[in-house]
Amino acid sequence: MGAFPESLVQGFSRYRSRMYQDFKEDYENLAIYGQKPKVLVISCCDSRVTPEAIFNCGPGELFVIRNVANLVPPFENDLGTHGTSAAIEYAVQSLKVEHIVVLGHCKCGGVQAFRVNGGKVDEVGQFVGPWIKILEPAAIALACDPVEPNTDPQLGLEYAGVRQSLKNLRTFPFVEEAINNGTLNLHGAWFDIGSGELRVMDPETRIFSAVQAQEVDASV
Ligand SMILES: [Zn+2]
Repeated sequence: MGAFPESLVQGFSRYRSRMYQDFKEDYENLAIYGQKPKVLVISCCDSRVTPEAIFNCGPGELFVIRNVANLVPPFENDLGTHGTSAAIEYAVQSLKVEHIVVLGHCKCGGVQAFRVNGGKVDEVGQFVGPWIKILEPAAIALACDPVEPNTDPQLGLEYAGVRQSLKNLRTFPFVEEAINNGTLNLHGAWFDIGSGELRVMDPETRIFSAVQAQEVDASV
């Protein structure tokens, strides 16, 4: 199996002496009383898109699902091993999160693989192919109803993928019920890696626009 990576040991050492010390009491309380995150973020596996860092959240604040291309599959009533669906169910039913944020991002490799391979998407990989096929209705919707017509095709499908995932979330009966009860809100967002810009989707127009970061006292 080889040695545990030295870079991770060094990173852990820094974590123990810095972040763990800063949040020691929080960690101890979280261990005793459990987690009560209010927000579920569904993000991509991409190493450049880190929800805790982007939203500056500490331990216990975010429940995070990361998968290829930040996708939510439609509700499927079979006996398959649905990792993303299981995590959504746990977040909504047990943790009772108040918000779900689907977080897309620029230069998404999963979205690009779908675009490049088109009808041959099944050949992309044994698991990746069928997974990114979740984007198929998003691509069709984009062709029929480009919410933002003059958008670059890659960006357009990244946005459309977020919209599709939000739509698929509502096919889960417990998600729809929580929305109707007023206890759950869904949100679309998109992150630009290079500029650090965050765009949020307007729930009515479904158009993404940049969040104006507020002035923050860096010393606090
Ligand atoms: Zn991605």
